[in-house]
Amino acid sequence: MDKVILRPGREESLRRFHPWVFSGAIAQVTGRPAEGDVVGVFAADGSFLAYGHYQIGSIAVRILSFDEDPLRPDFFEIMIGRALQARTAVGLDGAADTNCYRLVHGEGDNLPGLIIDYYDGVCVLQAHSVGMFRAKKQIADALRAVYGDRLKAVYDKSSGTAPFKAGLDLVDGYLYRAEGFDADECIVLENGNRFCVNWTEGQKTGFFLDQRDNRAAVGRLSGGRTVLNLFCYTGGFSIYALAGGAIHVDSVDSSRKAMDMVDRNVAIGGFDPARHTSYCADAIDFVKNVPDGKYDLMIVDPPAFAKHRGALKNALRAYQRLNAAAIEKVAPGGFVFTFSCSQVVDAEAFALAVFSAAAETGRSVRILDRMGQPADHAVNIYHPEGAYLKGLLLYVE
Ligand code: SAH
Repeated sequence: MDKVILRPGREESLRRFHPWVFSGAIAQVTGRPAEGDVVGVFAADGSFLAYGHYQIGSIAVRILSFDEDPLRPDFFEIMIGRALQARTAVGLDGAADTNCYRLVHGEGDNLPGLIIDYYDGVCVLQAHSVGMFRAKKQIADALRAVYGDRLKAVYDKSSGTAPFKAGLDLVDGYLYRAEGFDADECIVLENGNRFCVNWTEGQKTGFFLDQRDNRAAVGRLSGGRTVLNLFCYTGGFSIYALAGGAIHVDSVDSSRKAMDMVDRNVAIGGFDPARHTSYCADAIDFVKNVPDGKYDLMIVDPPAFAKHRGALKNALRAYQRLNAAAIEKVAPGGFVFTFSCSQVVDAEAFALAVFSAAAETGRSVRILDRMGQPADHAVNIYHPEGAYLKGLLLYVE
């Protein structure tokens, strides 16, 4: 096995179990590891630190194990089994009213570079590193071993996430399908609400599982209210609002495909279509043209405005503008659920952008709750960068 030897003093973060080795920390690489190979990482004094996937780039090694014993052939089976155990412990796997969850959340589950979402027996995998991409067959086998007969399919959807490298065949497709299973979508249950998830056509793995708890919070406050769901995707928040007794829900997204799925989800839920209206439109233009006081509850859940640090300043300005429009328009005594999923925008910076937005409007605004990501999107305590979703529940007078 090839070795990565660090510069003196650069082993500190690994000794604190941080799962990345940056290229600048490396003194020497012995042999000629191919990208995605497992390498051993050693301190300058020769002492063993960890094993991980090697890759050319700013993150040179993604750590898989800090244990000096070599990785076992059943490594993925063990790690995925542990991830499933954590979902079972919090009552997500085996729940009567929920059959979809994130099974593997990268660093949060000590599997950097790997995302697996579970939709009622179908696992959708996204590799974000060459190592995980190359390991996808082993990962599919591990899923079969862990889930047994419950597993219906494993779909690899890495073409948009794995780094493009020569020799990698970035074509999405099934790694496994149980006999007789030939669907590309299924209807899942989330807190008793039904949603159609299409993993081949949808965004990311097909559904945004990270908003489960926050959708429930919206459901609890929607009774008797008129609701606007901005950046609705397939209508997650809209369905909870309808189920929670909203008078009417308007859903807005710029994706035609997403809006078609919202309509399907309203129908699947058996809701009176007169209680819901779909708008395929730019959400920012839409909210600016909303009459004052039309909505008592608004959800603002845009895509990540900042995908990297360089975009931070513009992103914060965009969050401020968008939130100012929502806060200005919501009815007196209304609620605004506002979110940011940009990893580089921390909770404090986001709160500051929303504070500036409120100040622009001059309205009285209370923060009633601070929201985040659910238990299946857990953050590795040694990798705080894994916390990406933050939200504020505002009460606007
Ligand atoms: N709230 C959703 C997830 C939102 S993801 C849920 O609970 O599932 C962000 C969404 O914003 C995507 O569906 C994307 O199509 C949409 N989007 C991106 N830019 C937009 C814009 N300018 N106007 C409206 N929608 C936009």
